[in-house]
Amino acid sequence: MAVYGIDLGTTYSCVARIDDVGRPAVLRNLEGSDTTPSVVYFESSDSVVVGQSAKDAAVLDPEHVVQLVKRDMGHVVPREFHGRTYTPEEISARILRKLVDDAKAFSGDEAHDVVITVPAYFGLAERNATHKAGEIAGLRVLDVVAEPVAAALDYGALEGNEDGGDRAILVYDLGGGTFDTTVLTLRGRELTVLCTDGAKELGGSDFDDRIVMHLVERFRERFPDVADPLSDPLTETQLRRDAEEAKKALSFRERYIVRIMHQGMVEPVELTRDLLEELTRDLVDRTVDITRRTVELAAERGVSAFDDVLLVGGATKMPAVAAALRTLFGFEPRLHNPDLAVACGAALYALDQAAFITSTSALPADGVLDVPETGLTHRSYEITTVASRGYGIKVTDPDTDREYITHLVHANDRLPASVTEDFYTLRDGQRQVQIQVMEQAGAVESEELQHNTVVAQGTLKIPPNKPARWPFQCAFTLGLSGLLTVIATEQETGEQIEISVQIGGLSQEAVDEARVVMSRQRIL
Ligand code: ADP
Ligand code: MG
Repeated sequence: MAVYGIDLGTTYSCVARIDDVGRPAVLRNLEGSDTTPSVVYFESSDSVVVGQSAKDAAVLDPEHVVQLVKRDMGHVVPREFHGRTYTPEEISARILRKLVDDAKAFSGDEAHDVVITVPAYFGLAERNATHKAGEIAGLRVLDVVAEPVAAALDYGALEGNEDGGDRAILVYDLGGGTFDTTVLTLRGRELTVLCTDGAKELGGSDFDDRIVMHLVERFRERFPDVADPLSDPLTETQLRRDAEEAKKALSFRERYIVRIMHQGMVEPVELTRDLLEELTRDLVDRTVDITRRTVELAAERGVSAFDDVLLVGGATKMPAVAAALRTLFGFEPRLHNPDLAVACGAALYALDQAAFITSTSALPADGVLDVPETGLTHRSYEITTVASRGYGIKVTDPDTDREYITHLVHANDRLPASVTEDFYTLRDGQRQVQIQVMEQAGAVESEELQHNTVVAQGTLKIPPNKPARWPFQCAFTLGLSGLLTVIATEQETGEQIEISVQIGGLSQEAVDEARVVMSRQRIL
């Protein structure tokens, strides 16, 4: 059965499937690597390059290269290449296509069914966009699942409570361009993302930058009269490659030598693990601070001890990461193929999904299913989805005139969520109220206007001659598929307005058109 699990990462992506003995296995790309850089190079109107070659083109031909497109998922960020505009979904679709095409070449199977992973903080818009990216790539997306959930499946961290006991797991994910920490709880078969936090601009590439800076400094010291190495795109490309190589090597050995070549000069620079740790200590410290914040939030929500701490993301191979967490938690975090765990877990999840979809009987109470054609059984989980952001309305303080946001649905509230609250008019004789539906914009919920964005609005009529502080009601409903409905009601007249917003998502026509364009391109 060909069902793939795909980790569509910010900097690297990975695809896995279940092998004949029921274990997840990564499928290498045509270049022979387990992971593929999530970089897309629009070489010409009919040829698109994905992966390491695209990454190498980034410094030389930056106008035609897209990196970190995952950060734009769920947002309107059009980019133009060779006379056509591409959405983030379409660019991601090309990464998916390359992964699946290479996987097919390797495994020989025609896979169309996939599970794609997304960060736990991804909101409904981003999840929808990821789903659409899969559709544009011509794949059947069985589901979109949270990365920490997939990682926990691969680590086997969800096993051992078949007797019905509870488990709590902390996932620390330091990737190439992002950092996330997530707490999962498992009660019976019910798996919940209890809370999630992180930094969207902190990852392994910041460690690379520190090494590049150090190398450049050393070169300048040695050759003060030679032009800056970073002024030459070819040198810069090579320095970035070397820095990343050095960082990776230093996870397994103590020293590594980089030869800087620039304008005919060669300068060998020895890097040590100690030096790398010194250059990047503040970066690791930031992740620990955020992890502490997550642990505190989990404690407020009733989880104060963890059965497992899992390391995910390629950058956690740096020994400094586990060392810092050991100090924080007082026990050893688990580290096993951290850059492949998410794809492998997605493959396990995909198998469950495929089994579930093809099974004709209802899911048994213990969640254990037979997987067709394989003789295997798998346990499936009920995954609760939570709101990734807060939603509310703009209100005005009657005494100070200060405008601020009151959130009705909060980040991490379980979906579907329904909340109703009373609000009041400001002035005597006020005939209408503007309902501005707001979405939390930053990582943390905030009352401040600038930390929220307007997603929809409407006007509710108020009957004449009513005094200030005349009440009306707002009911927010946020569904599993991302449909936010706000109903505002004036109770005396029964006057009501309904505002609906689909949080994210391209239209079906846009997806179909994008598929046609992509089918005409060569993806290399
Ligand atoms: P993503 O962030 O896209 O999910 P990964 O989890 O694969 O991607 O993490 C990619 C990051 O991990 C990159 O910065 C890469 O350089 C780094 N990395 C990979 N292997 C190692 C290693 N052996 N030591 C240190 N960092 C590594
Ligand atoms: Mg990742």
